Amino acid sequence: LTLLGLESSCDDTAAAVVRGRPGGAGEILSSVVSGQAELHAAFGGVVPEIAARAHAERLDLCVERALAQAGLTLAEVDAIAVTSGPGLIGGVVSGVMCAKGLAAGAGLPLIGVNHLSGHALTPRLTDGLAYPYLMLLVSGGHCQFLAVEGPERFRRLGGTIDDAPGEAFDKCAKMLALGYPGGPAVEREAALGDGARFGFPRPLLDRPDCDFSFSGLKTAVRRARDRIVAEKGGLTVQDRRDLCAGFQQAVAEVMAEKTRRAFRLFAQTHGPQTLAVAGGVAANAVLRAALTGAAAAEGFAFLAPPLALCTDNGAMIAWAGLEQLGLRGPDDMALGARPRWPLDASAAAMLGSGR
Ligand code: ATP
Ligand code: FE
Repeated sequence: LTLLGLESSCDDTAAAVVRGRPGGAGEILSSVVSGQAELHAAFGGVVPEIAARAHAERLDLCVERALAQAGLTLAEVDAIAVTSGPGLIGGVVSGVMCAKGLAAGAGLPLIGVNHLSGHALTPRLTDGLAYPYLMLLVSGGHCQFLAVEGPERFRRLGGTIDDAPGEAFDKCAKMLALGYPGGPAVEREAALGDGARFGFPRPLLDRPDCDFSFSGLKTAVRRARDRIVAEKGGLTVQDRRDLCAGFQQAVAEVMAEKTRRAFRLFAQTHGPQTLAVAGGVAANAVLRAALTGAAAAEGFAFLAPPLALCTDNGAMIAWAGLEQLGLRGPDDMALGARPRWPLDASAAAMLGSGR
């Protein structure tokens, strides 16, 4: 099967063509991503209205390029997959409308895909990883451990009770005037800093679960910054580096420990398997090293897909569509856009939005 995938749920407009079958790894024939970082940089975060307009303007061109790079016409594609939630609703609506237009025009089946399932199934696209496996999704908007048991079978083992880690990195960068997106900037500064100087908290480490909290850590960074500014009138380069290093070290330590707990929880049903990561925060080398160490200690393998496939892209949506199409068939033209859409069946039922 050959699928065209569209993604527009946050600040990347993306289209890709993927070929494969659910059993093995997929072949990415093309993957076009048009980022909007420059549009949002001045605001220190994604502005939903600006994002929605940019998606609407860029989707057609992304699709055109993806098809051209794959050397295919729309008629040669078997189906169209599109992110139909969760995310910023304006962007999701833009993507769903575009996909419906293409599907109707070319007489192709259409399938709405959960953005998170796209991230969660990426190791199957890249490596043909067999079910079940453990997924840690750490991005700008999400943070959760998932037992991935099938194309639409996800069990949430834990996650953040407030901010996502990427959001915390971004806010940390913003309060230290390091620019947006903040993750790479904080990592760069942290490499030259003393992580022990401030003794930042290790949130929720005293609880035996796999849940995270990042908002208190963020506040601790702000307090430390304000204290230095009050005492010395401003921050030196080294102060910034130490604040970043302290923050990053706290995140890495908590993440490694919570991951150890997730391993044990997962292993109770499935035995030790593979930990796969996804999301932009997985780009962080210090966090990766911490996770690799934790995996080795608990007998799990560790898999990190290439960075371009860890962040938002169309290929993961095309792939998730490919796997899910075989399971539940296409959606019809009534396909809607869902701002909230938990992956876990029990969480979905609680929201009254179970499929
Ligand atoms: P979601 O996928 O949940 O909707 P998103 O699209 O914003 O959110 P991604 O594109 O997966 O998330 O990742 C972007 C996030 O990753 C940003 O918050 C960014 O700061 C963070 N990030 C990128 N590189 C690094 C890094 N080296 N260290 C830490 N965080 C990073
Ligand atoms: Fe994402």
